[in-house]
Amino acid sequence: MTASSAHPLVILGGGPAGLAAAYQFARRGWRDVTVLERGPRVGGNAGSFVIDGIPVDFGSHRLHPSTAPALMADIKALLGDDLLDRPRHGRIRLQGRWVHFPLKPVDLALRLPPAFAFGVLGDALTKRFAHEVDPPTFASLLEKGLGKTICREFYFPYAQKLWGLPPEALDAEQARRRVANSSLGKMVRRVLNAVPGLKPPGAGRFFYPKHGFGQIADAFAAAAATAGARIALNADVHAVRGEGTRMTGVDVTIDGARRTLPARQVLSTIPLTVLARLASGVTPPPLEATKGLGYRGMVLIYTTLESHQFTEFDAHYFPEAHLRISRMSEPKNYSLTERPGRTVLCAELPCAVGGAEWTMSDQDLLELFRGDITRAGLGPLPPVAGVFVARIPQAYPLYTEGYRLAFDALDAWAGGLDGLVTFGRQGLFVHDNTHHTMAMAYALADCVRPDGTLDRAAWSAARTSFEANVVED
Ligand SMILES: Cc1cc2nc3c(=O)[nH]c(=O)nc-3n(C[C@H](O)[C@H](O)[C@H](O)COP(=O)(O)OP(=O)(O)OC[C@H]3O[C@@H](n4cnc5c(N)ncnc54)[C@H](O)[C@@H]3O)c2cc1C
Repeated sequence: MTASSAHPLVILGGGPAGLAAAYQFARRGWRDVTVLERGPRVGGNAGSFVIDGIPVDFGSHRLHPSTAPALMADIKALLGDDLLDRPRHGRIRLQGRWVHFPLKPVDLALRLPPAFAFGVLGDALTKRFAHEVDPPTFASLLEKGLGKTICREFYFPYAQKLWGLPPEALDAEQARRRVANSSLGKMVRRVLNAVPGLKPPGAGRFFYPKHGFGQIADAFAAAAATAGARIALNADVHAVRGEGTRMTGVDVTIDGARRTLPARQVLSTIPLTVLARLASGVTPPPLEATKGLGYRGMVLIYTTLESHQFTEFDAHYFPEAHLRISRMSEPKNYSLTERPGRTVLCAELPCAVGGAEWTMSDQDLLELFRGDITRAGLGPLPPVAGVFVARIPQAYPLYTEGYRLAFDALDAWAGGLDGLVTFGRQGLFVHDNTHHTMAMAYALADCVRPDGTLDRAAWSAARTSFEANVVED
């Protein structure tokens, strides 16, 4: 569908959602599309960079085969042969043993700790599941669906580590949106997906670009630019400006020059809390509500080893409470990069922004990682050639008590302004995968009319459809 228009669009954030929007609008003939990205590169949390010749991501990232067909077709067209189709090959550490992830029937039978296996069986047979709690929480919903054993030995310690809160303190929505295997039935179906003959297309596989996950964002940025969009990096947005209930533009400094970009629509993928603080001249946002929307940060510890390969696995998952990291990936095993004599490990350490782990020195983080790897039975590490640390402040949204009221208040404020639309993972405060957030952008491009107005009914229907998104790990 072509929707040629000269009305200016300003897109806040150059992550996958913002870039997919820029590409969609520009290729449809929108002649004045500008992306404002705060950072020095595009891609957001789904970006990549290179360490010692090896592309690395901000934690383990993969493109899931469940990506919507139209989006998948575009990704394939833009990446061509660079998009690898890879088998998933990970491991979960459970009560001191390694279980393949994704789960496989024979592997489970051979490797599942006996106490764990009998516990799950007992839970299933006796239906010794938790009683309803009103209102339900992350803990009560999962325990009802999965039983005590899986929750107490796997999901609950993992949740505490990922989100820094007891599972009882998390809203039930976090379980609905974040846990694909939220019942024993779903889990059994997943396990059966690994059986030849029962395998649905794409099960046990993922897509990954040769030059790192961020190649998807890079390709969309390049395609958007070719179609006429401008992408400004290191853009310092000072204000999102308007009058009364109408947004009119964005005040920004680009390359040292301060200017106001007029906008018929400001399409925002930056955190809703940040957007609210940037608003100027329009109906005042309920700033008090920003306190109700918290994020979990993450420190990423990249250790370069003087070794060709550390293990054959793409990722190791560590739910156990005595280990502080939640996951370790080996990026070379995703991209198949030729780099003799070197490999990089990326350890994910979820933490509070500004807290003890967030502020640790690189050397202390390396020692923390080394200790965890040894305790997990994977050590000692081969000689270390270098360590690099990255910190992401908005890794996961926290669905704590009252978050929904806070989100609804801010969302209602944003939705009440003509010329402002929020979407993407940060804009809608969701846990969604990359392909979900890019699909949001595609949906949005169908909802803005050539005269620059938003088809509110269509966008509201699209927003409702996003609520069915469940994160894939
Ligand atoms: C550890 C981890 C692992 C993950 N693994 C996977 C995976 O395997 N598969 C998958 O599909 N997804 C995965 N995800 C999710 C994926 O990273 C997100 O879905 C994706 O990045 C969302 O894109 P987005 O554009 O909505 O948001 P973001 O990537 O967060 O992009 C937002 C952009 O806005 C910019 N911004 C913020 N504030 C401002 C401002 N004031 N002015 C201008 N720009 C601003 C940021 O710099 C950023 O570039 C993972 C996420 C994490 C944290």
